[in-house]
Amino acid sequence: MQDQLSLAKETKQILQNYGIRLNKNLGQNYLIDDFKRKKIINYGNLTKEDVVLEIGPGIGTLTIELAKRSKKVIAIEQDTTIFNILKERLTAEDINNVELINGDAVKVDFPKFNKIISNLPYQISSPITFKFLEYDFDLGILMYQKEFADRMNIKVGTKRYSRLSAMLYYKADVEFLTKVSPESFIPSPKVDSAVVKLTPKEIDENISDQEYKIYSKVVKALFQHKNKKCKNALIDSRHIIGFKDKKELKQILKNAEENNEKLKEYFLERTINLYPEEIMEISTLLSEYI
Ligand code: SAH
Repeated sequence: MQDQLSLAKETKQILQNYGIRLNKNLGQNYLIDDFKRKKIINYGNLTKEDVVLEIGPGIGTLTIELAKRSKKVIAIEQDTTIFNILKERLTAEDINNVELINGDAVKVDFPKFNKIISNLPYQISSPITFKFLEYDFDLGILMYQKEFADRMNIKVGTKRYSRLSAMLYYKADVEFLTKVSPESFIPSPKVDSAVVKLTPKEIDENISDQEYKIYSKVVKALFQHKNKKCKNALIDSRHIIGFKDKKELKQILKNAEENNEKLKEYFLERTINLYPEEIMEISTLLSEYI
């Protein structure tokens, strides 16, 4: 309890000293719950070999603890004022194994890392997750808005089955770790949060990188119109799979289904009813055209 009060106090004090008003548009909700902070750090199972990527470090609530337990932390913060505060704090604390980057984490390339541990800015949950999933790493401990975390594990055919769950299906195991309530942050967000563990999977050895790339495109195209029938969804999202001309794609899909009974069936299903394996089959069958 003592610690918990002191993290809240410390955070408010720092923000006050620098005259900072937190910016909602940047998802600035700072963790003030020391018990949850300890939990997040412990889930990371850190050793002095680990290089940790942190997106949105804020004033360093996680960063400083991560740095003490790992070889190096790479922290990417977009807000220049906050970035400068963190830089000063790290110097004051004599911490020199943090590589601080001032930029938009959705846009900058990530240096090499093997773990990602972050209380993420929620407004970039989706693009940042798709982005870091393209890198090779061992473990992710990530705080999301709870509603988003729930969507990561949704099964086919349910209302919330999404591009996210279809992508994660081949990429990572998702484990729900703990719920975090709004009072654990300042300012308190309106929603609950959740910490999840992502363990990247070895993609099935029968699926090549190229096939997975096409799968990613097909998934993206399909879920733009997830209640439409598969074929119509593909036609409506043709730009995503590399087609400008509607007629041309229609003809290609027609030829493809005439050559393959299964494809014909899949084309009539709505996206939300297609299992990831079926979407993989569709993309493999279409790969010669896409
Ligand atoms: N990890 C800190 C702060 C979380 S709030 C803590 O737990 O207290 C999220 C932080 O992400 C804010 O500091 C915000 O300025 C930063 N941020 C928002 N959008 C960002 C982006 N696109 N790239 C990098 N940082 C971003």
